[in-house]
Amino acid sequence: MTITPRIHRMTKQRQIILDVLKKTESHPTADWIYEKVRQEVPRISLGTVYRNLRVLKEMGDIQELNYGSTYSRFDGNTKPHYHFVCLDCGDIMDIHVPVYTELDKDAAEETGGKVEFHRLEFYGICSGCIQ
Ligand code: ZN
Ligand code: MN
Repeated sequence: MTITPRIHRMTKQRQIILDVLKKTESHPTADWIYEKVRQEVPRISLGTVYRNLRVLKEMGDIQELNYGSTYSRFDGNTKPHYHFVCLDCGDIMDIHVPVYTELDKDAAEETGGKVEFHRLEFYGICSGCIQ
């Protein structure tokens, strides 16, 4: 069995990007991931990181958290869960409360549509910024 070097290299880079995301709970930006991955793959480009993040998202290995005007943040945890966003420092933390799947049913009933998922964000000041 032969694997072309190009495909092999891409797959390895993608795995490194995925590992970086699985190892952090900080919900980093693409730039942060790029800086981290560069420590292992010095010649990787930011464009390659973006491209691999898109592929990982399409494969369902990561989540993209889009916050409108600010940069997307990425999450290696693909299980449904909620987030707390600090309005001061911008930190994003996981909230370990049960996911309210009943809301999907209510929303589907009201709209007559089919709900795939819902997102819930808590905004406030984190404990570190309060001090
Ligand atoms: Zn904060
Ligand atoms: Mn998360």
